[in-house]
Parts: sequence; C-alpha cells; structure tokens
Amino acid sequence: MDLINDYRNSELILALAKQIKAEAATLSRPINIMEICGGHTHSIMKFALGELVEGVVNFIHGPGCPVCIMPVSRIDEACELASMQGVIFCTLADMLRVPGSHTSLLKLRGLGHDIRALYTPLDALKIARQNPDKNVIFFAIGFETTTPMSAVIIQKALDEGVKNLYFHINHVTVPAPLRAIMADKNVNIDGFLGPSHVSVIVGSNAYKELALEFKRPIAISGFEPVDVMASVLNLIRQHKRASFEVFNEYKRAVSAQGNVKAKELVAKYMRPCTFEWRGLGEIDDSGLCLKDEYVSIDARRVFALQKEQATKEAKACICGQILRGVSKPPECALFAKACTPNSPVGACMVSSEGACAAYYKYQRRGA
Ligand code: SF4
Repeated sequence: MDLINDYRNSELILALAKQIKAEAATLSRPINIMEICGGHTHSIMKFALGELVEGVVNFIHGPGCPVCIMPVSRIDEACELASMQGVIFCTLADMLRVPGSHTSLLKLRGLGHDIRALYTPLDALKIARQNPDKNVIFFAIGFETTTPMSAVIIQKALDEGVKNLYFHINHVTVPAPLRAIMADKNVNIDGFLGPSHVSVIVGSNAYKELALEFKRPIAISGFEPVDVMASVLNLIRQHKRASFEVFNEYKRAVSAQGNVKAKELVAKYMRPCTFEWRGLGEIDDSGLCLKDEYVSIDARRVFALQKEQATKEAKACICGQILRGVSKPPECALFAKACTPNSPVGACMVSSEGACAAYYKYQRRGA
C-alpha cells in the first residue's frame, strides 16, 4: 500500500464526502468537530476538506500547535535568558519569530546575541560540547511527540558529564487542555479529531476516560485527507447514535498503549506541573517540569529570572480565542493585513502548524 497516494486518492475522498453528507442529512444542524492538532488544520485547508462537507461539518481549530500555545510570559523568559552574557540560546526555528512583550528572539539575535535555531534538538548537546566556556540553554518545546527527544538529550548529557547544558522545559500534554476545552460551556463541540503523532506516544487508551466523562466521541486520525474524512464519518455516526468511544483510525501507527519506552524515559526526568496556555490560561498538570533531582540542569531555577515583569500581548490579536475554538482566523481584524507570515503579530501566524498561517496559505480569500 502506498502510504501517501492511497491516502490522497481523490475518488475515495469524494466517496467519503458523499457518505458524510448522507449520514448528516438527518441532523438538525452542522456537526462541530475540533481538530486538536495543527497538522490536521493544515491538511483540512490544503485539501479543501471543509468545502467538500460544507453545511454539514464545521471544523473548529484547536490548541495543538506548540508554538501557538506558548504564553508571552515564557517568550519573555526566553528573551531574558538569551540576553545573558556568556549564553548560547538554542531552540526550534519557529520560536525565534514569536513576539514577546518587548522583543523577540529574532530581534535579539539581530542585536548580536548568540541565539541558534536547531535542525534537531540533539544539536544542543553538540553545541554544548563544542563550547565548554559557554552556558548553553535549550528551550525545549512541543507536545508528547517531542518530549522523548528532550529526555534523550538529558540522559546523554548526564551520562557524558556535560556540565554546561541547561534545559528550559516547555513541554505540554494533550489530554489536560482537551479536558479544559470539553469542560468549557462556551465551546460547543460534538466530537474531536485526536492527534496523530502525539497518539503514537500516548496511545489511544489515553483518551477513553475523557470521551466517556464528557460524552464526546474522539477519532484518532492520520494526517492524510482520507484519514480525516474517514474519521469525520465515524464521528458523525457516533454522534447520531450517542456513542462516546475512541475510534482509532490511525491504527497503522497508533497502538492502545502507545510507546511505553518513550513514556518511561520522559517520566524518569520530568514530572507533570501547571502550565499557562495562551488562550486557555493555567491548567493543572498540563505541562512538564524537570524533577527536583535535576535542579542543576534546570535553566528556570539555575538562572534568576525577573518573574515580576508584566507581560504585554498584542491587543488586537485573537490568537487565544482561536486556540479555544471560539473564533476563526478571518475574524481577526489584522489577518492578512497587519499580520502576515512575513510580519506576524501573533504566534498563530508564526508557526507552520498555526491556524492563521494555514488560512493565510490556503484560504486567504476568507479575509
Ligand atoms: S491573524 Fe495574526 S493577529 Fe490575528 S489572531 Fe492570527 S496571529 Fe493573531
């Protein structure tokens, strides 16, 4: 089986659209489906799936973009650390352009600070080895998909006795914000497209309790258009028969238990902690922090940060509402005008997984 072309087969996509419309014909209103992951948002836009099921399915974009959900306070911390003398600050490329309260990492780099965009997180270890006289800080971001990689780097650094590599952990988890969105009475969602890559790590069982507790079906879906359409069809069928199961459409990669080894490695170095999400606020146990025994490599604790500084958001940016699923990018007054990928005002336009970036790339006429 061709894992790309077979899952982009236009005849199959159109047949699924027809089935979705037939199933939805008896519903009194369009079904609201949130795709949690930014990868799904881009797939829906790229293949115009919303238009194929227009009038019967309303896709709502969720908080599954690690750059988008990073609050201004964390960007400010990153800028503060990156401005310190003797520091090499490393992170993934998209983070550089996200505006903080007063500046961005990209602007600081322009002022001469040593801020590096990594191709792979493992490069942080290489940079630390090559620069023993500098403090190398790795600003780690991402959902469950990328957390194991950070745990691997921590393990390698500790095993090798690398003394000048510090970690600013900003890893977050999917189930906790999902719970917050499901509990929000202002958000009217009938079913969820579960993330692809995250689910490879956490496993399909991770969502069972949530689906039952909040009476919302979840379909774990691959990123290709056939995956998405098959998952939507399942969600409509579940919605009609009031079933609240976790449907694993992405069985070719996701198991019930997930990647147990990766989860154990993460649990060795990190523990759950409260994380402040852009748009969603503070959510208990939704982020990860280094365990107390690794305080000596925890950048947030080793370097004194000025926590009292007030943060400043771009006023007209509605990125937070978009991440909560209550607004869509074209509703923002700045969309495709003052805010573009070349000159982003908010994080949702910066990230390649952001909803604003997806609308700008594939559906600008909506502006
Ligand atoms: S278009 Fe720009 S300013 Fe508007 S919500 Fe998106 S990121 Fe924020």
